[in-house]
Amino acid sequence: MSLSGGCQCGAVRFRVERDPGRASICHCRMCQKAFAGPFGALVTVKVGDLTWTRGTPATFQSSDAIRRGFCAGCGTPLTFEWSAEQIDLAVFAFDDPSAVQPGVQLAVESRPDWMAHLAEMPVRPPMGPTGAVVSRQHPDHDT
Ligand SMILES: [Zn+2]
Ligand SMILES: [Zn+2]
Repeated sequence: MSLSGGCQCGAVRFRVERDPGRASICHCRMCQKAFAGPFGALVTVKVGDLTWTRGTPATFQSSDAIRRGFCAGCGTPLTFEWSAEQIDLAVFAFDDPSAVQPGVQLAVESRPDWMAHLAEMPVRPPMGPTGAVVSRQHPDHDT
C-alpha cells in the first residue's frame, strides 16, 4: 500500500511506499509555532520509503537537532527531520489524513487548557454551499 500527500498549492507532493510507523501529536511550543496551530501531528516513515513526486520542501533549521520542511510557495508545513534513516511527515498533509491516526500526545505541558474541553465546545451548523468562492487548493490526489 502507498499513501500520497502534499502541500496546499500542490508544488510539493510526496508518496510513502509502506505503512507509516507511529504517529503522534506534539504540543511543544516549537511545533505550535511551526504549524501555527495548537499542535503538530507527525508520523515517522523510513527515508527509503519516501519519494518526493513533485518539488521538494524548503527547510528551516529550527534547532541544532531538527530541520523542518515546508512548501516555499504556500507555506504548508511538511516535515520534521531528525535522522538520516527516518523522517516525520505532517499527518494532515496526507491526501487521506484519516489513514494515519496519532496514538500518543507529546509535550502536554504546553497544551492549552481549552484543548481538554474541545469536544464540549459549541458547534456551528455547516455553512452549506459557498457560492462565489473558488478553491485554489490542490485536490487530495496526485495530478
Ligand atoms: Zn505549496
Ligand atoms: Zn514538538
